[in-house]
Amino acid sequence: MTDAPSAAGSHPDHLAPDTVVVAAGRPERTHDAPVNPPVVLSSTFIGRGEVVHGDRAYGRYSNPSWDPFEETLAELEGSGLPALVFASGLAAVSAAMSLLPPGGVLVMPQHSYQGSLAVAEQLAARGALTLRTVEIADTEAVKAQLAGAGMLWLESPTNPMLEIAELQVLAEAAHAAGALVVADNTFSTPLGQRPLESGVDVVVHSVTKYLAGHSDVVLGAVVTPDEELRARLVEHRSLHGAIAGPFETWLALRGVRTMALRIERSQATAALLAERLLGHPAIEAVRYPGLPQDPGHERAKAQMDGFGSIVAIVIKGGAEAADMVVEALRLWVPATSLGGVESLIERRRRHVNEPASVPQGLLRLSVGIENAEDLWADLAQALEKAQA
Ligand SMILES: *Cc1c(COP(=O)(O)O)cnc(C)c1O
Repeated sequence: MTDAPSAAGSHPDHLAPDTVVVAAGRPERTHDAPVNPPVVLSSTFIGRGEVVHGDRAYGRYSNPSWDPFEETLAELEGSGLPALVFASGLAAVSAAMSLLPPGGVLVMPQHSYQGSLAVAEQLAARGALTLRTVEIADTEAVKAQLAGAGMLWLESPTNPMLEIAELQVLAEAAHAAGALVVADNTFSTPLGQRPLESGVDVVVHSVTKYLAGHSDVVLGAVVTPDEELRARLVEHRSLHGAIAGPFETWLALRGVRTMALRIERSQATAALLAERLLGHPAIEAVRYPGLPQDPGHERAKAQMDGFGSIVAIVIKGGAEAADMVVEALRLWVPATSLGGVESLIERRRRHVNEPASVPQGLLRLSVGIENAEDLWADLAQALEKAQA
């Protein structure tokens, strides 16, 4: 055999993550093959006789368009089993929560993504689980809540307070208590931290954010190296039907190709802006794990490969002053969400469900890839206007 094609998506082992984002999930290297995976628009797949495990069979069970994205994300998170793509981040969150046995105890950060908290609260309200919310940066306080827990939910950095959880210590403590450990790795991305390496069992993503990266697709994913857990998640996806569209998944993989470059840029700008915002007369507090004086700095330095591109600032004068800053901005886009190429800003308490412990004047900045000085100039003029 002289010109046997290499396996689909195969490439040399031990590539750096910023190569994996480009090289993984490619079609077979055969003559005239496309460089990019195709979008497969088919609701059903040809088959005769009994449907056996691994058959595509039907579009709610699988789609060839999912595979390259699922392989790429698995490789980035360090899982030997393909990820599972879902219709949205919240569909992925719901699937992961379904791994908690009925009536089990779910321990969750009080500053979790509000949609995840809302799902947990709704399940708790109908008796499907018992919810214990915790201050996730306070390791001892979390440990104290783990007795009898069925699942520990981790988010680090948290949204929007950017608290840092001690991933490995908490995962060990949760396992000792007999709980499964799930981490929402949306904020950090696998380029910033790989929770599976810290002993976490299941990682969830809102692919909508940094992975897709262009604010043009809503998508989610779950990653686990555990065969049994993965089989249950596959079943959940197939039966509940929150499946990803082939084109959305293709867009997400296209976004992943530039993720390393995007984050390199946005992270450097976030660090610069956080530094300049610190001590600004219009600002009461700046939260960014990359700032040496940030309460989460040492922990973030120990467990992350980068401090991320989200900065939280608390404007003096509360909601009214913070809204004035947002109004005065011309380049920063006033919108929810994060992780896109364009810089977004939002006063989080404008959402009625946002926890009351989030300050009224807190603005969450999702730093994009624009010129750093242009972003700073816009912020500086808006802060000045709000002060006047
Ligand atoms: C946006 C987000 C989600 C929800 O994802 P969707 O794609 O909007 O459904 C979950 N977790 C975090 C941390 C998020 O930022």
